[in-house]
Amino acid sequence: MLEKMEILDVEKVIEEFESMTKDAENVQRETLKKILEENGCAEYLQNRGLNGRTDPESFKACVPLVTHKDLEPYIQRVADGASSPILTGQPITTISLSSGTTQGKPKFVPFNDELMETTLQIYRTSYAFRNRAFPIENGKALQFIYSSKQSKTKGGLFARTATTNVFRNSQFKNAMKAMQSQCCSPDEVIFGPDFHQSLYCHLLCGLIFREEIQLVSSTFAHSIVHAFRTFEQVWEELYTDIREGVLSSRITFPSVRSAMAKLLKPNPELADLIQKKCSGLSNWYGLIPELFPNVKYIYGIMTGSMEPYLKKLRHYAGDVPLLSADYGSSEGWIGANINPTLPPESATYAVLPNIGYFEFIPLKENVEEHLQDQVNASFLSMEPNPVGLTEVKVGEEYEVIITSFAGLYRYRLGDVVKVMGFHNSTPELKFVCRRNLMLTINIDKNTEKDLQLAVEEAAKLIAEEKLEVVDFSSHVDLSTDPGHYVIFWEINGEVSDEVLKECCNCLDRSFVDAGYVSSRKVNAIGPLELRVLRRGTFQKILDHYLGLGAALSQFKTPRCVGPTNNNVLKIFCDNVANTYFSTAF
Ligand code: AMP
Repeated sequence: MLEKMEILDVEKVIEEFESMTKDAENVQRETLKKILEENGCAEYLQNRGLNGRTDPESFKACVPLVTHKDLEPYIQRVADGASSPILTGQPITTISLSSGTTQGKPKFVPFNDELMETTLQIYRTSYAFRNRAFPIENGKALQFIYSSKQSKTKGGLFARTATTNVFRNSQFKNAMKAMQSQCCSPDEVIFGPDFHQSLYCHLLCGLIFREEIQLVSSTFAHSIVHAFRTFEQVWEELYTDIREGVLSSRITFPSVRSAMAKLLKPNPELADLIQKKCSGLSNWYGLIPELFPNVKYIYGIMTGSMEPYLKKLRHYAGDVPLLSADYGSSEGWIGANINPTLPPESATYAVLPNIGYFEFIPLKENVEEHLQDQVNASFLSMEPNPVGLTEVKVGEEYEVIITSFAGLYRYRLGDVVKVMGFHNSTPELKFVCRRNLMLTINIDKNTEKDLQLAVEEAAKLIAEEKLEVVDFSSHVDLSTDPGHYVIFWEINGEVSDEVLKECCNCLDRSFVDAGYVSSRKVNAIGPLELRVLRRGTFQKILDHYLGLGAALSQFKTPRCVGPTNNNVLKIFCDNVANTYFSTAF
């Protein structure tokens, strides 16, 4: 559809969305029916005894809830080139690598045309609402998007990150054109083999087209912050390239060089202007609007594990609004941000009822059961009782379950969301955190969100000295008796031992979970340890993941390094500059 269309008819998109969400329950039934009809011949469904039934009740009775681990053998057979239908009716031709930052290795998930179509539907929906509030003119987008390495599986399927699958799809470019958000960089830059070089060229293209840039974006906000941190280091080189019309020798790939040579012409006026503008900034505050005078907003996923980057992003953005992008995963999309005027901290995602079949495991009731049982295992061990999309309740938290058009049936995504309200009859979700307990030693339970709040609290102490935590992670150290939490911090300058000791105590006190506090009081958990890292350690972590086939576009810093993730743990441990133990208890 988009191929023929010049500019997206946003009113029509909104109309379709409104009508679909008014009838969310029926649309869900129809969607499940379609998924089961299209894929009923697949071995996985054949073995579940549905016998052609496609109603939600039979589906729930016959098909079990699963995690990625349960489906791994099936996905592996698909990747190995099985000739019969395993998970889907039509053969899967591409595999996505989901980030898997906590476990340390990317997971395989199936990707197909339907998933691509739902991706575009999500993009179109949020764009339609966004464009009502923040109209953009025909211009360009500075998009920090990158391709991951791609490999072939044993069965000859491409394996690459989901974002790479999307960016490489011919429909992506047409969709971006229709949304007046065409990337200002040539394909050779987006798909360049080295992300450092691609990043440099994205920045250069942005400067060349500075007047035309309408928005700055990336999949996850981390990449935008990373890009402008890099800008601080290479800006003089960038304007020198522009002045002389000659690309820096740091760009070595011939395809990238020749694509850039077509854009780069000597432009001393532009070089002078950039030099002057940057020199006039105080600590790079407001860099983005200074460089791109017509930018309307900054766009990327900014919730969940991206929240810690918002402060820095606001610093670069000055008064340019930050708009969070949509909610989804390599496994499938879930919701679109249809309230773009809300600040990212309050962003919600309205579920599109026709892009998958959704169920929700209520967490409150399960937590209570869990506490009663005094079971000290993972929450995942309980038998949950999920509700349907239109049965969720405002104010409650749930774990998301997806049934997709790409071979996942009742798949536990592992994300926790909170229902903030309804748009017509579809819920608006706030992303809360990953469900996995991250830090736990005995009866304590701390999630990614708890860690983020503790770090925010303690970082206030160094903010007084005009310094910031560049990035952070954590680890449970059980090699000591009792075990204790380790927090890794990279800071952008020197902080006195005295302040860092205070930070360490503050971190320890800021984990307010009752299980943690009581364990600390009786020394069933040892003093929290703050390990301050050398500058550049998180860059090494990023490089490590890119080496494994991750893409910068999809990168999420591992907030907790699991016991089996030895390589990442070693990078952290090899780069510790100073260590502090809490005396808070
Ligand atoms: P990936 O495995 O790389 O496909 O990443 C998918 C995961 O990223 C989701 O399961 C979420 O945990 C997280 N994520 C995706 N979109 C958002 C969002 N809008 N807000 C917060 N977290 C998100």
